[in-house]
Amino acid sequence: MRIDVISLFPEFVAQCAAFGVTGRAGERGLLQLHGWNPRDFAQGNYRRVDERPFGGGPGMVMMIDPLRAALQAAREADPRPTRVIYLSPQGVPFTQARARELATRERMVLLCGRYEGIDERLIEAEVDEELSIGDYVLSGGELAAAVVIDAVARLQEGALGDDQSAVQDSFEDGLLDCPHYTRPVEHELGQVPPVLMSGNHAQIARWRRLESLGRTWRRRPDLLDEAALSKTDRALLDA
Ligand code: SAM
Repeated sequence: MRIDVISLFPEFVAQCAAFGVTGRAGERGLLQLHGWNPRDFAQGNYRRVDERPFGGGPGMVMMIDPLRAALQAAREADPRPTRVIYLSPQGVPFTQARARELATRERMVLLCGRYEGIDERLIEAEVDEELSIGDYVLSGGELAAAVVIDAVARLQEGALGDDQSAVQDSFEDGLLDCPHYTRPVEHELGQVPPVLMSGNHAQIARWRRLESLGRTWRRRPDLLDEAALSKTDRALLDA
C-alpha cells in the first residue's frame, strides 16, 4: 500500500512510522510512505504557506496553492486513483472498521493541517473524506496521520508475526479484547487464571469470550448495541 502524506513536517510522520510493526511493514514493502511538504511548492523568498483569515480573528490559515501543488505532485508520482483524506477534528471518527476498509486500498493521500486549518475551498475541491482521531484538538494533523498509518499498516497481510493476532484485537468482532497473561505463572502481583493452563481449548475459548463480553459490558456498553452476538453470548450477558 502506498500512502502519500502532505504535511509541513513529513519527516515527523515518517519517524513515527519507522519503528516496530510499521517499520517492518516498510522494510517488507507492504507500506510505501511518501512525504510532500507544501513549503517546497510555495512561491517567493519566504515560501509562505499560511495567511491571515478573512474576517479577522486569531491564527493563520493554510493557503490553497502550496497544498494543491503538493497534492498534484503526489497524484503525478503515482497515477493510480486515490482517496484524499483530510485529518480534522471535524471529521468522521476513525474506527477499526474504517481502518479495515482503508487497509484494502492500494493507496491514499493524507492531508495534514496546521494553524487554524486549511482554506475551506481546497477541502471542498480536493478532499474525499475527513477523519478525526478523537474529540480533542491537536496542533497539527501529523499525529493523526501517524495513527491512521499505524492502524492500517498492521492490517496489511504479513505485517504482523501472526495475521490472526489482528483478528483477535479489540473492536474486530465488536467487543473489547480479553485480558492476556504470560510467564511467570506465580507472581507477587497475582496468579495466571488456571483455565489458561488447562490445555482445554474449548474452555479457554469460552473463558476468553466471557471476559471479552464482561469487559465490554463494564467499560464500553455502547459497543454491545452494534456487536454481532450469538444466543450463547446473550445468555452469558443476561446471567
Ligand atoms: N480550527 C480547527 C477546528 O477547530 O476545527 C482546528 C485546527 S487544529 C489546531 C490544526 C490541524 O490539526 C487541523 O487542521 C487538523 O489537520 C489537525 N487536527 C487537530 N485535531 C485533530 C483531530 N482530533 N483529528 C484529526 N486531525 C486533527
